Amino acid sequence: MWTEGRDTGLALARDNERPRNLLLKSLPLEELERLSPLLQKVPLIPRRVLQHAGLPIEHVTFIEEGLVSVLAKVDERNAVEVGLIGHDGAVGSIVVLGAGTAAFSHFVQIGGTALRVGVDDLFRMLPALPRLREALHLYLHLSWMQSAQVAACSLGHSFEQRLASWLLTAHDRCDMSDLPITQDLLARSLGVRRPTVSDAFKQLAQRGVFAKERGRVRILDRARLERIACRCYRAMCRQRDALKRSKMGGKTLIALSLVFALLEIELAVQ
Ligand SMILES: [Zn+2]
Repeated sequence: MWTEGRDTGLALARDNERPRNLLLKSLPLEELERLSPLLQKVPLIPRRVLQHAGLPIEHVTFIEEGLVSVLAKVDERNAVEVGLIGHDGAVGSIVVLGAGTAAFSHFVQIGGTALRVGVDDLFRMLPALPRLREALHLYLHLSWMQSAQVAACSLGHSFEQRLASWLLTAHDRCDMSDLPITQDLLARSLGVRRPTVSDAFKQLAQRGVFAKERGRVRILDRARLERIACRCYRAMCRQRDALKRSKMGGKTLIALSLVFALLEIELAVQ
């Protein structure tokens, strides 16, 4: 498992140290002040399981830096990635919908740091944190849509397109210019054989979109990578932007975004 952090009870708001996590960043100052004494800063250790499937969820972990894969089992030995969580999200946030145990494993792809709160503490404080509850609900809604898009993508698009989408998503969510990822991990996460990743990497590198050195991938030409990526990446960006604009603006917008997402999925598999 992962290493315990030493800092408990951060005075983020008082110290003018704004969090990097987008969910926390979206909170008004008074909510951040209420929450910050409960937050514990912890390291994210690469290649560790942060949350095992089937076990109780004890913390909600807001990612500050790094990247976590959400893995669904396909058989006793193998699992594939059905979601990515970076500084846009929080591991364990499903507890706000009433889930007590994790349906999926959460594996640290890229190390970094996180701020976590115990589930009991969170529930005690949640009535005084309406904007956090709203932010988590929106995030879960978006995660559901994006997982569905990823499922459609794996059926309808080439591996090179999927890899380009994955790199763009990872780049967005961990905000690093160099991504410390290995082909082995990518092959396992995306449910393909290592040579498939290797070939796609070679082709993309030859087209000058990224350089790979010492286990790190540096994106050199993001605009070109976006043109190579399948439409799923753009669809996911649009879903995110539509939800942001709605600012929880009523059930109509949520329903419309659901319809939009289902249409995108249908088109993607044609
Ligand atoms: Zn796709």
